[in-house]
Amino acid sequence: MKKNILFVQFYSITDDYCSLFNGFSSVYKECKNMGELVWIEFKSKESWALNRWSYEQKWNMQEYEKRDLPIIKGTVYVSVFWHAHILQTYVWAKKYPNIKFIVGGPPIMLNPYTPDDTVPDNLIIKKGLAEKVIFNKNTVNLSWDISLPADKRLQKVKTIDFTYLVDRKCYWKKCIFCKYYRNKEELLNRSVSNLYLPIKNKKYSIVLQIPSITPKFLLTETPKLIKSPHVQYGMFLRGNNNMILPLKKTLANCSSGIGPDPKQLAFSIGVEFPSNRMLEYMKKGATTYSILKTIELLKQYECIISVNLIRDWTNLTKNDIKEAKNFIENLYAITGNNIIFGLSTLLIIKDTTLDHIYKGPKKNLRTKPFDIGIYKPILNKNQKILNNEYKKICSKFNIHESYTNE
Ligand code: SF4
Repeated sequence: MKKNILFVQFYSITDDYCSLFNGFSSVYKECKNMGELVWIEFKSKESWALNRWSYEQKWNMQEYEKRDLPIIKGTVYVSVFWHAHILQTYVWAKKYPNIKFIVGGPPIMLNPYTPDDTVPDNLIIKKGLAEKVIFNKNTVNLSWDISLPADKRLQKVKTIDFTYLVDRKCYWKKCIFCKYYRNKEELLNRSVSNLYLPIKNKKYSIVLQIPSITPKFLLTETPKLIKSPHVQYGMFLRGNNNMILPLKKTLANCSSGIGPDPKQLAFSIGVEFPSNRMLEYMKKGATTYSILKTIELLKQYECIISVNLIRDWTNLTKNDIKEAKNFIENLYAITGNNIIFGLSTLLIIKDTTLDHIYKGPKKNLRTKPFDIGIYKPILNKNQKILNNEYKKICSKFNIHESYTNE
């Protein structure tokens, strides 16, 4: 093994689907020059279950111990996506005391991940982009690339999903519950021109990794995306007034043949709670009207639309519930059933504005052996009633919890 240096990425595979957590793609050439890239399989259920935080203490360490690495000493850089991947690195760090593990990835960028005293010294958590952390460069001239796992089942799967890193920083960075506003990284504005499809005759679901796409990205990068009925692009979009014009122009261009077909574009909008008072409180910079206008436009061009909602807020009023009901009714009137919903419970990340505002009782999430600095607020009687009403409205429209934290 070249210089005993590995770059580990995880993947999940079923008969239909392969998910690649390709965290080293944006520094692929640099990794290849320095060591070996290695894929490790993780069952998707295993990864998801552990992200339901309360299941966490049930993780089966023996399963994790069965996964081996091809070296017994050296340095292993690990790109993590799920909490389960970090726990795997913890098990490896104990199993291979002569390997130094350097771990980074999206969950670590957003949460503190403070280790307890069972975490060995050879496991080092690093925040920041790979080019800075590993290669000590401010910018790497990106030659984005992706290797595929040497797994025979890959020939049979129909769809492959992977990510393409565009930016780590949000240009808006104001929402009070979000950690991105503290992210000191510069905006990268990476182009999508290096993106390609690694094998023929597959469907692709490609997530453009950027906390929230910018008007500039919409206008200048979207037209460069590969046009193909077999490729779908996922991205986060703010439903605010300033996005409507660039969005209109981009979708009109796409439908006239400049860039991908609008049907290839899957937009995910974080509404969180659909009342104007709550949107203002969260500093979303959007109104229920601007969100509905955005969705109307996406629907007109037959884009794929998903909306994320959060329940268990600690400050709801009766009027918020009334507005939420109106909003969801209007949403259905616009989209019919052609919309995907995500509903999750509110989790407060330490050191966000919301954490500084919230003074009530809380329940820390069990995160052994790391303190990831997230807690759940405990609702008083009145807030429980209001949040239950909101939940009932959601159920009536078939909006159910994407995952539960209870
Ligand atoms: S727009 Fe999204 S990523 Fe940006 S601050 Fe708000 S919640 Fe965070």
